[in-house]
Amino acid sequence: MTAQSAAAAARATVYGYPRQGQNRELKKAVEGYWKGRVGADALRTTAEDLRRSNWRQLSDAGIHEVPSGDFSYYDHVLDTSVMVGAVPERHRAAVDADALDGYFAMARGTQDVAPLEMTKWFDTNYHYLVPELGPDTVFTADPAKQVSEFKEALALGLTARPVLVGPLTYLLLAKPAPGVAADFEPLTLLDRLLPVYAEILADLRAAGAEWVQLDEPSLVQDRTPAELNAAARAYRDLGGETDRPKLLVASYFGRLGDALPVLAKAPIDGLALDLTGSAAGNLDALAAVGGLPGKRLVAGVVDGRNIWINDYEKSLATLGTLLGLADRVDVAASCSLLHVPLDATAERDIDPEISRWLAFARQKTEEIAVLARGLGQGTYAITAELITNRAALASRAGSALTRDPAVRARTAAVTDADARRSQPYTERTTAQRARLGLPPLPTTTIGSFPQTDELRTARADLRGGRIDTAGYEERIKEEIREVLSFQEKAGLDVLVHGEPERNDMVQYFAEQLTGYVATNHGWVQSYGTRYVRPPVLAGDISRPEPMTVRWTSYAQSLTDHPVKGMLTGPVTMLAWSFVRDDQPLADTARQVALALRDEVNDLEAAGTSVIQVDEPALRETLPPRSADHADYLAWATESFRLTTGGVRPDTQIHTHMCYAEFGDIVQAIDDLDADVISLEAARSHMQVARELAAHGYPREAGPGVYDIHSPRVPSTEEATALLLKGLEAIPAERLWVNPDCGLKTRGWPETRASLENMVAAAREIRSRP
Ligand code: GLN
Ligand code: ZN
Repeated sequence: MTAQSAAAAARATVYGYPRQGQNRELKKAVEGYWKGRVGADALRTTAEDLRRSNWRQLSDAGIHEVPSGDFSYYDHVLDTSVMVGAVPERHRAAVDADALDGYFAMARGTQDVAPLEMTKWFDTNYHYLVPELGPDTVFTADPAKQVSEFKEALALGLTARPVLVGPLTYLLLAKPAPGVAADFEPLTLLDRLLPVYAEILADLRAAGAEWVQLDEPSLVQDRTPAELNAAARAYRDLGGETDRPKLLVASYFGRLGDALPVLAKAPIDGLALDLTGSAAGNLDALAAVGGLPGKRLVAGVVDGRNIWINDYEKSLATLGTLLGLADRVDVAASCSLLHVPLDATAERDIDPEISRWLAFARQKTEEIAVLARGLGQGTYAITAELITNRAALASRAGSALTRDPAVRARTAAVTDADARRSQPYTERTTAQRARLGLPPLPTTTIGSFPQTDELRTARADLRGGRIDTAGYEERIKEEIREVLSFQEKAGLDVLVHGEPERNDMVQYFAEQLTGYVATNHGWVQSYGTRYVRPPVLAGDISRPEPMTVRWTSYAQSLTDHPVKGMLTGPVTMLAWSFVRDDQPLADTARQVALALRDEVNDLEAAGTSVIQVDEPALRETLPPRSADHADYLAWATESFRLTTGGVRPDTQIHTHMCYAEFGDIVQAIDDLDADVISLEAARSHMQVARELAAHGYPREAGPGVYDIHSPRVPSTEEATALLLKGLEAIPAERLWVNPDCGLKTRGWPETRASLENMVAAAREIRSRP
């Protein structure tokens, strides 16, 4: 095929769409079902309506080939487990009794049975349910969901392409089932899994699917030669089947690297590549392997994970280059649109200047359609769109919001010394001990205390104008008094104010920083029925005035114990927001760091002797390729040090991280140059403490002794046992006693009892000879 005919055939497509609906109808229906207020039929109808309206939206926007099967009541990886019959033994009875209830039991657990574990979907903020597999796993094909959703789309007269998690990615995302040896490798089940995929593909073919998409984002991560061989084998087998639809293998979230030649050679019919940001390197790599002669290339030129408008001219240039490299070039977003909010036009409070720069899922599908038209018919067919696009991009580039001279001058003037404390850790720790006068094994918490219904109501009342600011602040103070008085009574050593004024640990700061924009409806699925509204780092960041000082100072005025100031760190601010795509992440991080540095310094000036800067996202933001780690860790740790580097030696800097796998970033944690770190450890029986010790981590640390993810109250004996375990790895002079994480999702009764037991455990060990 010539480049011209490849262009003429260009089609617009997407891999997936937000599931929740305009008003989060899905969340309401599913949660209603759990509470028994919505029947199974009503839930199904809601789901069907949402799917239909999504497909209509896509098709009206000019998407030629719509995805099917991407919808989910909870999670698409759990759907895949159901599709291949990988139901854990402990859930079998529930699934056999009622498929829908069994499905939710796997997702959420029941009174007696634990759910599947949940973890992050690559480096996004979406969480999937981890498949549990073992040597005895038997796969069986259950294509019902895929087939029926495909037929629904077909019934609307649309061209649909079922989207499945690919077999390799499915196995690479799995873990050994409970009771199976920890070194069991799910990938060894590939030969058992492939026939099941072949059967499902045949069923979809029989239902009328011309193309089926198999998602293999795992292939953008570092893969061993054995894993690449498995990929080659999988697609040789599936491609070799006779009774099959055409296979589109989709990669996203980065560049394919060594997996590109493997897939290019495989007997599949199409390949989808991410061509945004640093994945743009896929283009040269594709040229280097000689392109995809005879195959379909789906070009992910519209960023599916961020909310900025596309640069049409740049995308068209990329698409033009690709034309010579494949038989047919289609236009898509870089990944499923699941990771962006639904519709930017729903935002009425955003400055119209900024609104022009935003594209959510709905706007992105329009962009994809425009680009496909421009590619297929020539740019004259999209003249008006090009003019509008160019003007919007120019407005963004020239805006005073994206270029604040004062911020730019300040970031440019940053020196190495700014990102360094005035004394090394070993010296300042003496000064801190003298100032704080804490007992050995000091006790503290991670910051938040239960966010009660009364607090949420107060916030809603403030928004709804039912109470004024003064009334709201009085309620917050009341809460702080209660939190303080409990901590004093319980005998904690370093107290917190409890964060009652914060709706969310990122949004609270975003709302107060210039350059940040919050959305009203920008919901994105985090897991199951939990949705978050990440704020947008839209422009240069500055802090017009202190953000937390008066609350911390108020709390400090109520007690003689040190009250810990509490901030969200720069890396986490970026990780849980939509970031700028018009400057390096490192530059944005530096701006946020300087704004937070002012807050840290103001806290210190107000008399705060302990300041915690939370960085739970440090580990999860590691790029998928290890070749990119050093670069990331350099700016990430520098921005933390820039935030905290301006304080006196006797001011103690804490940091906090959640999640348990730290082995590979202990050096980076040390590079933060914090004085104390608290980490999640209760469930893993202090594994983290052992890992820190194994890497020679030299600083004070508080591995959590209270699992805050469950309402269970740990007994004093349990907490004591965990502390003794911790002491095997970390000496008493450096061990802190704290829960795993913040307490905002807990209720008061269990929080009280658990913290009292935790303090009792610390005292019990202190009293030992
Ligand atoms: N300070 C925050 C809290 O206690 C930390 C939360 C987190 O790390 N996720 O809620
Ligand atoms: Zn945490």
